[in-house]
Amino acid sequence: MEIYQLLPKTNCKECGESTCMAFAVKIISREHGIKECTPLMEDSKYAAEKNKLLEMLKPMEDAGETGLIIHDDKCFGCGNCVVACPVNVANDPEGAAIGDGPSNDKVILKVVDGVVVAQNVGECRRFGKNRILCNACIDPCPSGAIEFV
Ligand code: SF4
Ligand code: SF4
Ligand code: SF4
Repeated sequence: MEIYQLLPKTNCKECGESTCMAFAVKIISREHGIKECTPLMEDSKYAAEKNKLLEMLKPMEDAGETGLIIHDDKCFGCGNCVVACPVNVANDPEGAAIGDGPSNDKVILKVVDGVVVAQNVGECRRFGKNRILCNACIDPCPSGAIEFV
């Protein structure tokens, strides 16, 4: 509703959706980007709403395909998320899964210089059309350094 309230609410269909509400829902599910609303982007009478929406949705734009954000300033490299990620466990049972550090390049999460980094995000359970709401890396983080938007 917060996104919808800032859209033009004309149901013009230029974004490919039949209503602005449908478009707002698909912003949240990451099936559309806010810049696909052409009237909002191009008509100066919506400038204030456009700026609010761009600011509000910036974390989603920055987060990439899976929505993952790692807050470097909160991560202290404990490795809990590395060991908990089911993809890490499956792809590296001899290394990342037992806290020994990755023994191959198939892991998603690994600690580099004291901070966790993500790679191979296409392997993440939150990636793509069949994504599921995996929270395995978030829950064991003691400092709230991992977030999905
Ligand atoms: S293009 Fe914008 S104003 Fe038109 S229907 Fe889509 S969201 Fe609504
Ligand atoms: S969401 Fe799940 S699969 Fe993706 S990085 Fe986190 S624990 Fe691994
Ligand atoms: S993101 Fe959290 S769980 Fe993962 S290494 Fe950093 S502090 Fe530990």
